[in-house]
Amino acid sequence: MNFSGGIAVKIKALNGFKDIIPGEVELWLKVEQTARNIFNRFNFSEIRMPILEKTDLFSRSIGEATDIVEKEMYTFVDKQITMRPEATASLLRAYIQHGLYVQKPIQRLFTIGPMFRHERPQKGRLRQFHQMDVEVLGSANPRVDTELMAMGAMLLEELGIDVSLELNSLGCPECRPGFRKTLLTFIDDRRDELCDDCKRRSTSNPLRVLDCKNPRCREQVEEAPSILDHLCGSCGEHFSSVQKGLQDINVVYSLNKFMVRGLDYYTRTTFEFITADLGSQAAVGAGGRYDGLVETLGGPKTPGIGFALGMERLVLLLQQKELETESTGCDMFVAGLGEKAIDFAFPLVHALRQMGLQAAMDHEGRSLKSQMKQANKLQSGYVLIVGESELEQGQAVLRNMETQEQQDVKISDATDTFARSLQEKCTLRIS
Ligand code: ATP
Ligand code: MG
Repeated sequence: MNFSGGIAVKIKALNGFKDIIPGEVELWLKVEQTARNIFNRFNFSEIRMPILEKTDLFSRSIGEATDIVEKEMYTFVDKQITMRPEATASLLRAYIQHGLYVQKPIQRLFTIGPMFRHERPQKGRLRQFHQMDVEVLGSANPRVDTELMAMGAMLLEELGIDVSLELNSLGCPECRPGFRKTLLTFIDDRRDELCDDCKRRSTSNPLRVLDCKNPRCREQVEEAPSILDHLCGSCGEHFSSVQKGLQDINVVYSLNKFMVRGLDYYTRTTFEFITADLGSQAAVGAGGRYDGLVETLGGPKTPGIGFALGMERLVLLLQQKELETESTGCDMFVAGLGEKAIDFAFPLVHALRQMGLQAAMDHEGRSLKSQMKQANKLQSGYVLIVGESELEQGQAVLRNMETQEQQDVKISDATDTFARSLQEKCTLRIS
């Protein structure tokens, strides 16, 4: 047994894995509810995928020479399975597996849930973290790119989170190889100055060097050529239309030629929502177009685009703003004094809950003073005080906690009738 000095050693959560406890969870709900509301406005349907997938799904889609696949995945080597590090690959796997393209030529899907990456835990960077992820499959229209970015911007604005939108295009298999060559030549001259990761990857994945976070690498690529000068005709046109769309609906953005994203599947539009308030965890959300990915995963040729928002970072930003968390408040606390009154209160509280009200009581036979304290803590609108002698006379006292007014009310025999008349008297909220 694992005892030290007679006291069991506490078992703590793993490093980088966090509980979300009452007091915090309200902000999570606010983020999620706001998102669900906006996703609904834009006609997205929810999809939920399992957390474990075949390892090959991620190495094939995200790319072997990326941070995620090289060093961040939780993989069970003996089983060749991996805890999903992101949502897009799983979502596309499900989309292909269930032939969702047959039902609807354009699918607008979202999913919300935990992702797993073995990174160095710090503020806003965890090993289990949560994303809200949206994907549009089946349209190559630049309007869709614009619409998605506008939806992300609208969501962040409704949450009151200040971000800037950074935009780039990564071209396509037509024009990217040419740019890659130009970039390789540029990098070759500076290879000795780069970090070990960049040195190693510069030949296999030179674009990765552009967004390395190492300040020395950043300095080296300051003057690097821009992919935006190397886009083919159709990629250039697509990118212009995306920008025009953003301007048409007043979504503010800036171009960032260094943004290549940490996943290999992107083509054309890529974007990030950046905050200035979270240090190096600056990206609150990011995404882009991946017109070849469905095919790579064995599905039909299908263009797609999506983005994911990091929920931990959104919650941190809301906490920093010290937003008041709105507590819903209990409708009715039934304070029973004495065993008989408690026996009476129990089915009454249950009936109130069946009617859709938030009701509470004390099961421990505590004093009236203690029960009033509990009612206050729960922000109860009303307290019904039931004493044994009043109960015998079919009476109880109803206290309006806001106005402090008290009135005698009659207890009828049927709990249900009583609850209903009570509800009318109190003009309580029924959901
Ligand atoms: P970063 O550059 O911060 O590592 P990323 O490019 O790896 O981010 P994506 O793969 O684009 O992130 O994931 C989308 C969003 O998910 C990010 O913008 C961020 O808000 C969030 N996110 C990514 N990794 C983590 C993590 N380890 N902990 C918390 N949030 C994360
Ligand atoms: Mg990362």
